[in-house]
Amino acid sequence: MNNSHDRPAARLTARGVVRRYGGIEAVGGVDLVARPGRITALVGPNGAGKSTLFDCLAGTVRPDAGRVLLGGRDVTGLPAHRRVRLGLARTFQQIAVFPTLSVADNVRVGAEQRTGRAGRTGPAGRAEARDVAERTVEALRLFGLQGLAAEPAGAQPTGVLRLVELARALAGGPRVLLLDEPAAGLDAAQTARLVSVLRGLAERGMALLLVEHDAELVAELADTVYAMAAGRMVAAGPTATVLADPRVTRAWGAVG
Ligand code: ATP
Repeated sequence: MNNSHDRPAARLTARGVVRRYGGIEAVGGVDLVARPGRITALVGPNGAGKSTLFDCLAGTVRPDAGRVLLGGRDVTGLPAHRRVRLGLARTFQQIAVFPTLSVADNVRVGAEQRTGRAGRTGPAGRAEARDVAERTVEALRLFGLQGLAAEPAGAQPTGVLRLVELARALAGGPRVLLLDEPAAGLDAAQTARLVSVLRGLAERGMALLLVEHDAELVAELADTVYAMAAGRMVAAGPTATVLADPRVTRAWGAVG
């Protein structure tokens, strides 16, 4: 998308992130870097701490210790919506769309989050409205959703909703995109489209981080893999190396 060009690339970094729930250390002091131009995957068995780390990065969960940096800026204390404005977008494992809004309006919400100042009047407001409209159309096009633009989102099947959610995240022109199991509920054709869109975004300098259970998709997409188990990072590095690491295959029975 055009809008991935107009903000400098940024890396997303977790340093020594800790998050406890009661007596459980869901994330026990982990480091991770998602680099611009790269697709980074976070894998591990159920309960490993992936979602908790992901939420700490997105800003929906506050770490008990450690730091989160976006493009060198410490965002640990910023809520999720402030991080969105700095260029950090995410999708959810449980699809979150506004069912009564049209597909296009759902995507527009993402385009408007870019500024957080929807409704301005005068020339600046008009330019902004044009920009939002362009971003919306471009994001719909990217996922082949133009034909469904006017349809209510709530009437769409899961696979389409996944794409709507992705289009919404991208319409804000993020520098870093966090994806929580993006292929869940997609058919083969939609997955192929997703793979090609995500590759294209990385090629244009976006940093992508995905939490993913599907080992084949990780092998196909990711440049770098971080593997967690029981709140710890057990391996990190190039995809082929990490996926072949016995510590990872032992912990993550799904690999191979
Ligand atoms: P999954 O693949 O099943 O989504 P995960 O790797 O994402 O697993 P988390 O959901 O981060 O793992 O969970 C890590 C640990 O933290 C688990 O033991 C989980 O029960 C616990 N946990 C996560 N969120 C909470 C919460 N809100 N309250 C209490 N415990 C939690």
